Amino acid sequence: MQLLLKQVRLEQGYTYDGETIIGTKTDFFDVLIDNGIFALIEKEIAVTDEMTIIEANGQLLLPSLREMHIHIDKTYFGGEWKAPTPVTEGIVTRIKEEEWLLPQQLPVARERARKVVEHYIANGHTHIRSHCNITPQIGTEHIKITKEVLAEFEDQITYEIVAFPQHGLLRSNVEPLMREALEMGVTHIGGVDPATIDRNIHQSLEKTVALAKEYDVAIDIHIHDRDTLGVFEFDVLMDFIDKYEFKNPVTISHAMALANLEDHVLERITERLADYKIDITSTVPTGLGKSTIPIPYLYDRGVFISMGHDSLTDHWSPFGTGDTIHRLNILTERFRYITEFDISQSLKYATGGITPLNEKGEVVWPKVGDQANALLADGVSTAHVIARLCPISTVISKGKIIHQNEVTVKGEYR
Ligand SMILES: [Zn+2]
Repeated sequence: MQLLLKQVRLEQGYTYDGETIIGTKTDFFDVLIDNGIFALIEKEIAVTDEMTIIEANGQLLLPSLREMHIHIDKTYFGGEWKAPTPVTEGIVTRIKEEEWLLPQQLPVARERARKVVEHYIANGHTHIRSHCNITPQIGTEHIKITKEVLAEFEDQITYEIVAFPQHGLLRSNVEPLMREALEMGVTHIGGVDPATIDRNIHQSLEKTVALAKEYDVAIDIHIHDRDTLGVFEFDVLMDFIDKYEFKNPVTISHAMALANLEDHVLERITERLADYKIDITSTVPTGLGKSTIPIPYLYDRGVFISMGHDSLTDHWSPFGTGDTIHRLNILTERFRYITEFDISQSLKYATGGITPLNEKGEVVWPKVGDQANALLADGVSTAHVIARLCPISTVISKGKIIHQNEVTVKGEYR
């Protein structure tokens, strides 16, 4: 089946006042998608009987979004409103709460996970990485639910599942359950604060890397531990990557330690993270006492950064939106990115590095032959969409429409 997008706005370059970028140049095209890929991009493409037509009416085509850190297995989303309880013992407050809460939520977990995925699709995502609790109380039940729910959407999105020992790999003694989860076919092994939770940095990280190596999966570990303690954990993790000659991808989620380091420490650890090709996933925390990690600094020095919400609404936080354009809006405001160029290039954090224009202003997306994972938004440039939160009308994954929202086209007047 062919999909023809009529009168799509595509970015063509930046506009300048002297040397200064002052805007984005766009033009209108017809875009033909065939067999999941962009097949033809021309000023006008003749309509044939095999084509499904989308009238874009000048809406901007952008690469689709990736949610790289969410827990679809434990959420209040789709259920009644409930605020989190006060934090009394740091992260342990939530761990103790989960011991009774997660078994209680099991009967609704599947339905809520499904609602979370639908919400992400409606917000322009075509890839989701979900962490998935492995605890003594619920065993591998959440893996089963997460796998089943994501499989229902596999013709619409791609996904990854992280087996996540939230209550500590060592602390909650879940190695046998982790092995069971790894046998069930997850893509990643997770982990959490080896100092604060497991109280044994070396043993916890070595076991994580050893299991990842044995089962040939990737690693995505939550490290909230701050300052030089967190940096020490990053170093130990990389030492074990060396020891086990581990070659699969490694992500550190949150990596809060990077937020408040002395310059020379930040410089050294950034260089090592880049050297080991460690990805960092951030929610861009901005709350009081929650310093944001220096995302642009890291990216510019070769550390790949991606975005995640972590939660929509659950017992940890009530503030997630599942709207990654909104998350980019927070990021750009946080880093005082107010120019067309700075805002526009920030899209890369949410798309796996894809932007319509590269830093030189050359068109790099979409190109004929690229996989057709895209969205239509009612804005006139990437920067406009991010800064003014322009709505998404159409989501396309693997060349098929997976979601359409009712949007009144206002273009540049948003
Ligand atoms: Zn998380």
